[in-house]
Amino acid sequence: MTWPDCDVCGRPAKGVAGSVLGAISFAYCQECLIHNADVKSLIEFTLNDCGGEVAEWVKDMTYYENGEYRSVRELLPDAPTRAG
Ligand SMILES: [Zn+2]
Repeated sequence: MTWPDCDVCGRPAKGVAGSVLGAISFAYCQECLIHNADVKSLIEFTLNDCGGEVAEWVKDMTYYENGEYRSVRELLPDAPTRAG
């Protein structure tokens, strides 16, 4: 069976699973599963919906952008801004 590309990073997916952030399923690759990564737009929706008040396990998640895994903590309202 051929799986779709990973919804988090775009590489070939390992399978489809339910997101830990809500009742929605995405395709994930092995690397994104290892990095506890989820779709950035869903993470941003979760942070906006909760006003940034999320559980520590959510803050420990990552998302994929510009070829690297980045911490959800960078997206929190009180996060220091990144230079560049
Ligand atoms: Zn991936």
